[in-house]
Order: sequence, then C-alpha cells, then structure tokens
Amino acid sequence: VTAWDEREVARAALKSSPAVAGEGDRSPSATGGGAPPSVAGATATSPARAGEDQLTLAPLDDLSGIDALVLSPGVPLNTHPLAARAREAGVEIIGDIELFARARPELPAHNVVGITGTNGKSTTTALVHHILKTAGVPTTMGGNIGLPILAQNPLPAGGVYVLELSSYQIDLTQSLDCDVAVLLNITPDHLDRYDSFEAYAASKARLFDMSSGETVIVGSDAPTRSIASRHPRASGDPASSLKLDPRFRGGDALVGPHNEQNILAALLTAQALGIADEQIADALHTYPGLPHRMERVANRDGVLFVNDSKATNAESAAPALAAFERVRWIVGGLAKTEDLGPAADHLGHVAKAYTIGKAGPMFARLLEARGVAVEPCETLENAVNRAAADSQPGDVVLLSPASASFDQFRDFEARGEAFRNAVGALS
Ligand code: ADP
Repeated sequence: VTAWDEREVARAALKSSPAVAGEGDRSPSATGGGAPPSVAGATATSPARAGEDQLTLAPLDDLSGIDALVLSPGVPLNTHPLAARAREAGVEIIGDIELFARARPELPAHNVVGITGTNGKSTTTALVHHILKTAGVPTTMGGNIGLPILAQNPLPAGGVYVLELSSYQIDLTQSLDCDVAVLLNITPDHLDRYDSFEAYAASKARLFDMSSGETVIVGSDAPTRSIASRHPRASGDPASSLKLDPRFRGGDALVGPHNEQNILAALLTAQALGIADEQIADALHTYPGLPHRMERVANRDGVLFVNDSKATNAESAAPALAAFERVRWIVGGLAKTEDLGPAADHLGHVAKAYTIGKAGPMFARLLEARGVAVEPCETLENAVNRAAADSQPGDVVLLSPASASFDQFRDFEARGEAFRNAVGALS
C-alpha cells in the first residue's frame, strides 16, 4: 500500500490485527454472512490456510467505489494521509469493533461488555471473562486483547462478549451499544495521538454516549468523575474500592491497590450480568493473572522477581511500587512524560533503581534528585544481573519500567520475555 508506513502496520498487527482486509473471509458468520464490504488497500487473493492469508496491495489514489476504510487502531487517525483522503472523499472510517457492532443483529441473543480506561483494561477484561467462564456462561474476550473479535466463532445464545477497548478502537467505532460499559480511569497517555488531554478523555466518553445499558465507572480521577456525573446510571463509588468486602479480595494474581479498582469494576460488571456473589468471590481466587502484569517470574533464595513489563507509563508503575516493601526497580525505555507522576509517591519502597533504555538518564536524574540510589545499566540484562547481585532475601526485583519498550524491544511482551530469560540465566 503506497501510503502505508510499514512500521505502523507491523506494530498494529502485533496487538490487534483484524482491521486489515482478509479477516472478513475468515469468519463470515461474525460479519453477518453477507458479502464483505469493499475494503480499501488490500484484497484477499488465493484461498489461504488460517494465518497465511495472502494479500495483494492496491494503490489507494482513487477511493471511488470504496464503501468504508477499515483501519487498524495502530494507524494514527488524526495524521495519516490515507485517513485524511478518506475524510475528504466522504468515505467512512471504521474499525473491526464497528464491523462487529453492525453484525450483532445476526448473532444469537447475547450481551456485550465494553471495558476502557488508561490502565487496567486487560486485567479487568480477563477478570470479567474468568468470572463468567467460571459461572458457566458462554463467553469470549476480544478487542484489544487476545484474538481479534472477528476471528472468533460467534457465541451460542446467552453468551457474553467481553471487549477491551482502547481509545483508538473507540475512535473507529460508532454504534457499539454495550449492555455494560466500563470505565476504569483516565490519566495522561497516548497524547501523541490526541490534540489534548481533553480530546483523549472525550474519546473514552464516547463509549458511554454510544451505549444504553448499565454503566460501571470506578476511577476517582477528575476526568473519570466528570464522565460519571454526566451518566446518571453510573455505578461504582471510588471510595468503596478501599474497603472491598473481604470476600472479594483476589488471590496472588490480584495484589496491589490498583487491582482493587479492577476487582471493583469486574465485580459490578458481573453483578450487572446477574452472576451470584458467591460465584464471583470464588472466581476472584482462581483468577490466574495475565503475563507481563505483576507476574511472579521466580523466587530465588527469598528474592522475588516480578515482571510488570506492561507498565508503560508512570501511572501504572506507581501501584507496582506500592505493592512491595523493598523494591529493586528496573525503570526506563521510551518515556511518555518527563516526570515520575504518581510513582514519586512510592519511592520510599525503592532500595535502588536500575535504569535502562533511552529514558534511563532522565529517570536517573529525577530519582537522584529525590535521594534514591541509582545504577545506570542501559540494558535490561545488565539491570537484572546488577539488581540480583545487590539483593537480600525479602527484596523484590521489579521490572515496571514506566516507559514504552520500542527503543530496545519489539513490544512490551518481548521486553517481559527478555526479563524472564535474564532471570532464568542468573547463576
Ligand atoms: P491496560 O490493558 O489498560 O494497559 P493492564 O491490565 O494490562 O492495563 O495493566 C497494565 C499495567 O497497569 C499493569 O502492569 C499494572 O501495573 C497497571 N495497572 C493495572 N490496573 C491498574 C489500575 N486500575 N490503575 C492503575 N494502574 C493499573
């Protein structure tokens, strides 16, 4: 595709590959079984085995005859020339979630849960999915997590589709009427793709404008409360997250104050879907957790190694620091902001910081100014080795980098794997 930036496509494909043409053929039932809409840019050719679709790429100079431009959420809608051209030509721009929304009338009776927020989306989505599955409800999760929703088989009647929705996906969605719409929190992130923080918050708010069902809004930050105040059906008192009924405390996979917020959101969602409290409580204890989110990788001679590679901003690293007493903090990568954000409130837990990546020097400067011991390590492997060598029993070596990974890794998963490998290689 002439106008396409390959790197964007590759990155988009890693997290959410559906919006590129070809997916419609794979799951005709999910798109309603009719003829797939014309899709700009690429057409499926030879019949392909799953995962091996062949695409031919067509020039995009002429958008006539194109019904819709189906974009991957990884493509910047605000700046990409192709999106601009489609807008000029009056061609609607949608994403795979919108295709799903339009196919809903064809599906057996079901409910849709849409979950958004700056942090905690995947955890809450996986938790709701786990609770429903444990309670015997047919369910699947998709959107910004796992298999693209259009690549999945439709659920039988009574099923619940649990969708993790990034702001980018919401921007490409116009008619997803959620039976339960969930907002966790809104803090600065992805500001490169929005004109302002307000525009980013407005993107999240659109989920509630589209939806007519229950709303679960739990965050206590100002933009989140502002959205809650505009939606009278909103449930979830942020203060109650601090005194969750002890029955609803999670197991090992749900430690830290941030998970109380995620648990509260999942609890209210499951209750809204009619799941009994006992079943919810049981499921919270059997939730296995997601890789790269506060994942306990190893315990070596009393030193715990925790992979929280998914913490790509300071807001998400803060609760990870708060969750442990004596932390050897591996931090750095491509920083999103030039400050420590709320992580600054938990530096008392940091025995020493081991800085890596492009933002390493910036973090070293900020931390030293606050009296935290710092060892510049540049690479993750080096940081793991240095932190392990310094550790005493009871210490936690924590990769919670408060930064994106693209300066040194393909994505946060590759960074987490590298951490796991470095821990495994310790002598
Ligand atoms: P998302 O899918 O929104 O990126 P995840 O559930 O994958 O969120 O969690 C990403 C990181 O954010 C985790 O590593 C964790 O440290 C942190 N986190 C999880 N839930 C919350 C929350 N409710 N508030 C703040 N930070 C959170």
